[in-house]
Amino acid sequence: MGGQQAAYAAGPVDLRLQDGVVSEVGDRLTTSGADDVIEAEGRWVMPGLWDAHTHPVMWALSRRRIDLVGSTDADDTLLRVRQHLDGIPAGDALVMGYGYRSGAWTSPPTTAQLDAVTGARPVALAAGDGHNGWLNSAAFALLGLPVEPGPLVENQWYAAFTRLEELDPDAVDPVPALAEAISEAHAKGIVGIVDFEFASAFTTWPARIARGLTSMRVRAATYADQLEEVARRGLRTGDPLVPGHDLVTMGPLKVISDGSLNTLTAWCCEPYVGGERLEHPCGRPNQDQGELVDVMARAREIGLTTAIHAIGDRAVAGALDAFEATGQVGAMEHAQLVRWEDIPRLAGLGITASVQPAHAPDDRDVSEQWWTDRTDRLYAFRAMLDAGVPLALGSDAPVSPLDPWLAIATAVHRSADDRQPWHPEQSLTVAEALAASVDGQGTVAAGSRADLVLLDADPLAGPADSGALAAYLRRMPVAVTIVGGRVVHRAV
Ligand SMILES: [Zn+2]
Repeated sequence: MGGQQAAYAAGPVDLRLQDGVVSEVGDRLTTSGADDVIEAEGRWVMPGLWDAHTHPVMWALSRRRIDLVGSTDADDTLLRVRQHLDGIPAGDALVMGYGYRSGAWTSPPTTAQLDAVTGARPVALAAGDGHNGWLNSAAFALLGLPVEPGPLVENQWYAAFTRLEELDPDAVDPVPALAEAISEAHAKGIVGIVDFEFASAFTTWPARIARGLTSMRVRAATYADQLEEVARRGLRTGDPLVPGHDLVTMGPLKVISDGSLNTLTAWCCEPYVGGERLEHPCGRPNQDQGELVDVMARAREIGLTTAIHAIGDRAVAGALDAFEATGQVGAMEHAQLVRWEDIPRLAGLGITASVQPAHAPDDRDVSEQWWTDRTDRLYAFRAMLDAGVPLALGSDAPVSPLDPWLAIATAVHRSADDRQPWHPEQSLTVAEALAASVDGQGTVAAGSRADLVLLDADPLAGPADSGALAAYLRRMPVAVTIVGGRVVHRAV
């Protein structure tokens, strides 16, 4: 394979891949006729990209539903429905959509309007606030309900929604949607994900592998409720879930130790600004410290690492205490708000900060409201990196899109709109953001995993202006993605 070896080679080199690893890097390697040769034609080569925090089924389903988020009125909503139906194979399977908000529309939506753009295919749209649903006549018929003139609201809608989910072929069998989402991720250079699906991922992957989902590296997590099942199966972190297929392995124990900023439940050391009117002025933990220590100790005993969701600084401190008390290793998921004095502790314990840069601009306004006195300590990527904390970038898809280039671009340029970057002193360089996206694989050399990405542009040669650089990174053209020596994406 001919390619350019990142920043480390002055000119094009060839790579030999053997048994899933890079066996040789050099000038003009010779091939025997039996070798598969990929003509990289001087493209940029780098280690494959990882997303360290995903919910892949939720992501796959959200991609298949009609995206109505931000639709402006009934016409816009109906246009999106029409365009979606035009883009999928014809059939009579239920199609679902999500995200319209009709509260400010000049007239309420009607069943007849939806019928006019959908025809006989059952279509059900869920409102963005979840409190009502807009069905066409075919969807009413599918549920065996009399056709109502307009949306179902509140309890009627909740009952209908539960049944719709059971009828949604994508939700009942997510494998086809997942296959599509995986190939889209490969097209962005993704070779591996950490799967934090709530239905314990380690139980679902063996059947998916049997059905041919074998191109992605997956670390499948468990939650505490399935910990004894993991122990019973004798699975340790890193073990293949299916003998002979080593791409999908047992991941960590995941614990969601506190809430989130947007629901005002992230657990902080100090009250939220204006928090006196909240039931929990500092947010709150989801368990007491003793329970956290016990479950982490049990995970360690059975050979699992631990990933602790901790968003507020009090939750981060508590998780650090628990890591220290148990000698457990693993990752702090999110680590959005961290006390300055806890950053060296993270480094000292060797805990990876598993962070989602694209959430920073999403949280900017709500942070400026509730945490305005502490925004300098939010998403403190630079401070963590400088202190020696290993960083791993991710998306928490579907919370933000499963797109490593969006994460990298936002780590470099902390703004998603025309505003100046938010706390730019905490931004990373492109090289640092890339290094935080390759699962510690560093450069490409003999002995590296044959998980590689060939790019049609040099990520380190973008424009100097950080906004223009972010746009350049978000458009990064991925030519070829290779997992374990096998081509899983080729642009042409
Ligand atoms: Zn998550």
